[in-house]
Amino acid sequence: MITDEVTELLRAGFTWRESDGVRALVCTPLEQAGFANAFSTRLGGVSPFQQDALNLAGFNEDEAENIYENRRRFLRLFAGEWTLTSCWQVHSADVRTVRDLEDARHDTMHCDALVTNVPRLLVGVKTADCVPIILGDRRTGACAAVHAGWRGTVASILPRAVERMRAEYGTRPEDLCAAIGPAAGACCYEVGDEVIEAFAEKFPHAAHLFTPTRAGHALVDLHRANREQLLAAGVSNEQIHTAPLCTMCRTDIFFSYRREKALHGRTGRLMAVIGLGS
Ligand SMILES: [Zn+2]
Repeated sequence: MITDEVTELLRAGFTWRESDGVRALVCTPLEQAGFANAFSTRLGGVSPFQQDALNLAGFNEDEAENIYENRRRFLRLFAGEWTLTSCWQVHSADVRTVRDLEDARHDTMHCDALVTNVPRLLVGVKTADCVPIILGDRRTGACAAVHAGWRGTVASILPRAVERMRAEYGTRPEDLCAAIGPAAGACCYEVGDEVIEAFAEKFPHAAHLFTPTRAGHALVDLHRANREQLLAAGVSNEQIHTAPLCTMCRTDIFFSYRREKALHGRTGRLMAVIGLGS
C-alpha cells in the first residue's frame, strides 16, 4: 500500500522528503530545474492539533510561538539560509511581486499569489483544502506560489500569476514547470449551487468539472480546473505535475478545513513554497 503510494507519487513527479520528523512533498522536476520547493504535511511540529502538528499559519487558532517554531523546523528541509515570505490570503485575483528581501517583510499584504526572481527567497501560500500551485520558469529563474480555492479558481488567479511573470520577467508559458499540490479532491469536495453557478457563469464549458451528488450539490475537481487553466495559458502538459493526494481523505498527513474545522473547531494550515536556489 505504502509502496504503491510512493510509486504513484514518483510517476506524478513527487517525492517525500524528511528531516527531524518533518515530512514534505517535493516536486522533483522543479527541483532539478533549480527551484527549492516543498508542500508541507502536518507531521513533525509542536502544535497541539492532535499531537506534534506542523501548523504553519492561522494565528487566531494557535500560539504564535508554535507557528514560528514550526516554520523554523519546516525551513530546515532546505540547505543554507532562506527567507520565507507569504501574504494575507483573501480568495482574490490579486498577485504581488516581491522585488527584494526588504519587500519580503511585507508579508501581511492582501493577495493570493506571489511572484519573485530573488534568489534564496521562498514565496509561500497557506492552505487547508484549497489548491496550492507553484510555478518555476526554467529559463529566467522566476517563480510563483498561488492559492486557489474555488473562488480563486473562478477568478483565474493562476493565469493571472502566469501573466504577471510574463510582464515582470518575460516568462514564456512554454518555459514553465508547474506543481499542483495536495488539496480537497474530486473524491470529497462537495459544493452547492452557488459554486456550480459561479463556474458556469465564468466558464461555459465547466460542466465536466462537476459530478452531481444530491439535489443542488456536486463534487468539484479543482485540481483539474487549475490544470486546464495552465494548459489554456500555454503551459505544456508534460510540465504540469499534480500530486495525487486529497487533503480530506488523508487527514493522517494533511490538515483539512472541511474535515476538521467542524469536528474540532479549528485546524492547522499547510504551506507550499518555492524559491530560486538549491
Ligand atoms: Zn478525498
